[in-house]
Amino acid sequence: LSAMQPELDAADRNLVDGVLARQLRPLAKTITLIESQREDHKQRAQRVLEALLPHTGGAMRVGISGVPGVGKSTFIEALGLYLIEQGLRVAVLAVDPSSSVTGGSILGDKTRMELLSQNPAAFIRPSPSACSLGGVAEKTRESMLVCEAAGFDVIIIETVGVGQSETAVAGMADIFCLLQLPNAGDDLQAIKKGIMEIADLIVINKADIDPSAAMRAKSQIKTALHMLRPASPNWTVPVLTLSALKKGGVAEFWNTVTDYRKALTASGEFDAKRRHQALAWMWELIDSGLRSRFRSHPQVKQELPALARAVEEGSTTPSIAALRLLGHL
Ligand code: GDP
Repeated sequence: LSAMQPELDAADRNLVDGVLARQLRPLAKTITLIESQREDHKQRAQRVLEALLPHTGGAMRVGISGVPGVGKSTFIEALGLYLIEQGLRVAVLAVDPSSSVTGGSILGDKTRMELLSQNPAAFIRPSPSACSLGGVAEKTRESMLVCEAAGFDVIIIETVGVGQSETAVAGMADIFCLLQLPNAGDDLQAIKKGIMEIADLIVINKADIDPSAAMRAKSQIKTALHMLRPASPNWTVPVLTLSALKKGGVAEFWNTVTDYRKALTASGEFDAKRRHQALAWMWELIDSGLRSRFRSHPQVKQELPALARAVEEGSTTPSIAALRLLGHL
C-alpha cells in the first residue's frame, strides 16, 4: 500500500512535520486544507492525512450533544480546563448542521469558551461549513485524526441536539454523551428521537438550580433506559448530575469516561467499535460518491427528467425507470 503513496512535496512535508511537532499553526493550516472545496486542496489534504495516519488513534474521542442552552460550551470549558489541570491536551471540534445553511457556526466558537481558548494546551476549531451534513461530518472526522497526530490526548466533538448530526458524531466518537436539562419530559423527547439509544452516558446539567428536580429527572431517565436495549453487554449507561457553571461533577464525569474505556477495552469492544466506525465511514463515502457520480452522468442527466415525469404519470414503474438509469453507471 505504501507504494501507492506519492512523495510529499516540500509544502506538504512542512505541514506534516509541523503537526507531528505539535505546532498549532500547521495544525490549523492542515484543517483548513481539509475543509477546502478546491479539487487540488482536496488531493493535497488526502496526501497529508495519509502521511499522518500512522500517528493517529491515540486520543480519547468524546462526543457531546444536547439542545441549545443546555450548557454544552459551559461544560466543555469546565471539562477542558479540568483535563488540562491533569496534564492532558484537549482539542474541541464541532459538527454544526446549521453551518451548512448559514455558512456561520453556532457551535465551538472561541468567544463561548474564553478561558479554554486562551490556554496553550487547548485547540478549539469551529464547525466546518459544507454543502451537506455528511460533508461537515467527514471533514470533522478527518480533522479529528489530524488533532490526534498533533498529540492531543482528548478530542471533544460537540454537536447540537437537532436531528442527524448526533448520529454522525456518535459514529466518530468512542463515547457519546448526552446533556439533558432537569425537566421531566425532556428525556421523552430524546427517546422519541432515538438519541438516548445511542448515548453511552447521560448527564443532567444545571443540577445546582434545583438539586431535587435533578434527582427526580435522574431516576426517570434511569427507568426509561431500562426499556431500551443496551448497546453493549459490558456497559450500563450511567446517568450523572452535574453543574457545569459551578464545576460540580466534572471529575466524576471524567472518571466515568475512564471507566467506560477500561470496560470496553477489557472486552475488546473498544477497538472493534473503531474498526466498525472506519468501515461504516468508508461505505458512507462510497454511497455518497456513487450518488453524485450517478447524478452527474451525462446520460442520466439527459434521460432523468422524462423518466421522472413518466413515473409521476404512471406510464412507467419506479423500478423500470431506476433500472434504466442505473444501467448507465
Ligand atoms: P449551549 O448552548 O448548550 O452551549 O449552552 P451554554 O453553555 O451557552 O449555556 C447556556 C446558559 O446556561 C448560559 O447562560 C450558562 O451560563 C447557563 N448554564 C450552563 N451550565 C449551567 C449550570 O450548570 N447551572 C446553571 N445554573 N446555569 C448553567
